[in-house]
Amino acid sequence: MSAVPSLYIHIPFCVRKCLYCDFYSFVPSGRSEIETYIAALRAELDLYREYLGGLKTVYIGGGTPSMIDNPILENLFSGIDEFTAGREIEFTLEANPDDVTPEKAEFWKRRGVTRASLGWQSMDKGTLGLLRRRNSPEVNRQAFDCLRGAGFGNISVDLILSVAGGEIESALDAIAELTPEHVSAYHLTIEEGTPLHRMTSRGEYVPRGDSDYLAVYHNVSRTLETLGYRQYEVSNFARPGFESRHNTNYWDYGGYAGIGLGAAGFIDGTRYTNTRDMKEYLRAAGAGERPVASSETPDRNMAMREYVMLGLRKADGFSADGFFKRFGVDLNSAEFSAGWAALEKWVRREGGRIFLTPGGRDIMDGIIGEIWDFLPESR
Ligand code: SF4
Repeated sequence: MSAVPSLYIHIPFCVRKCLYCDFYSFVPSGRSEIETYIAALRAELDLYREYLGGLKTVYIGGGTPSMIDNPILENLFSGIDEFTAGREIEFTLEANPDDVTPEKAEFWKRRGVTRASLGWQSMDKGTLGLLRRRNSPEVNRQAFDCLRGAGFGNISVDLILSVAGGEIESALDAIAELTPEHVSAYHLTIEEGTPLHRMTSRGEYVPRGDSDYLAVYHNVSRTLETLGYRQYEVSNFARPGFESRHNTNYWDYGGYAGIGLGAAGFIDGTRYTNTRDMKEYLRAAGAGERPVASSETPDRNMAMREYVMLGLRKADGFSADGFFKRFGVDLNSAEFSAGWAALEKWVRREGGRIFLTPGGRDIMDGIIGEIWDFLPESR
């Protein structure tokens, strides 16, 4: 049994469903459902007590944590306090711009949230309307100012890059003006079962093509670098010292506890996923049982591959020495020379680290597949 550095808490509620959303979220039946759920979260938190003695990061995501009223959220915060009191931790809360008020922002700050992740998604009115988002460009700015006014010195904004017809310049202008500490700029995958997928099938929505998307992605990367951000991960940019410690732990293949409906965790080399059935979740948490629906322990072969896949997402990749210590495999040995040589345009091995070139980043999935093929298979 080992302590985990990170805790993820899932809030599955949203005010309404966005067109593209494949996250596990739904509209709650009322205030009492939220209250009951938060009480169950506290009970579940207690079931992971033995792992939470060394927390460095807490992340409340969703869904829409920011839609929860302060008195109800206080119940969750006081449960978290027990594991974080007196510690310097990174404590992130995801916020939908529509929900951010001076009262909420001040409360989050006072109750220990150190980092706000603000779901701008776009500064283009047409794009936000198309995605059926609640926020508008004006509300995005107001929410940002509100968080700053409450004293948040670490704000991340999310941007979706791949909406066809949407422009990105207004978002880049707003970033230049408002200077958030962190930007997540990601590709929107159109998942089956979402309204956007049905629209795409009917030809009512045409996603950006790959080359168009790459042009936008490169433009955003270049502009953000010019503005003083470092692209420290495929989709993430930060001013120096403001890289997300929580997400970096995921990419480092670190352990984390995940609590909440449908949440996932990774403890002592075993990955687990909680039930998505609210009734069962409440029953289990109330009975003092972890509401785990499934779990798996990746064998050494799979763990090596996952380690590489996650590590290569970071600009500085992963340490060959760290890989050797964990798996007993020396990736710099002659056994792998031919494999690396075939990828030399896309992968660098320098200073003890293995990382992708900018060109390699553009075709990351293919490169990772090639590496997986030449990693050893043990029985
Ligand atoms: S706010 Fe986020 S989680 Fe909620 S419906 Fe929209 S995309 Fe999904």
